[in-house]
Amino acid sequence: MTNSEKTSCLCGAVQITAEKINPKFTVCHCQSCRTWGGAPFFAVQCGTKVEIDGSDKVKEYDSSAWASRGFCTECGTHLFFKFKESGEYNMPVGMFPNLKGMEMDMQYFSDLRPSYYCFTNKTKEMTTTEIMKMFASKM
Ligand SMILES: [Zn+2]
Ligand SMILES: [Zn+2]
Repeated sequence: MTNSEKTSCLCGAVQITAEKINPKFTVCHCQSCRTWGGAPFFAVQCGTKVEIDGSDKVKEYDSSAWASRGFCTECGTHLFFKFKESGEYNMPVGMFPNLKGMEMDMQYFSDLRPSYYCFTNKTKEMTTTEIMKMFASKM
C-alpha cells in the first residue's frame, strides 16, 4: 500500500505533492538529523515522484557528499532530505497529516541514539558500521 498526498510548509509558499509515499517510515538518530530538527528525523520515502511548487522559496543545503536537505526560506519548515545520485526524496512524516497504515520500520544509526529517549516500536535497526558497509557495497 502506498499513500499519495498534497501538503505545504507552514507559511504555504511551498506546495508539495508526493505521489508514492511508502507507509514504512524510518527514523534516523544521526547527529546531523538531530541537529537539523532537534530530534531524530522521522522520514517517509517518497521516491522521485515529488512535485514542488514554489521551489524559488526552497533552499537546498548541501549537507553531505551523498545528500542535501531542503527547507522553506520564508518559514523554515524542513521539507526534504534528497539523495544526490538517485534524486530520491525522504520527507518528514509529520508534514503529511492524512497518511494511512503507517509503520515505523527502521531506525538508522541506532548506536548514536542518545540514552535520554527510546521507542517501544518493534523495528529493524542499523548501526553506523552496518550503514557504512551497505554504502560501500553500493559503490
Ligand atoms: Zn514556508
Ligand atoms: Zn540522519
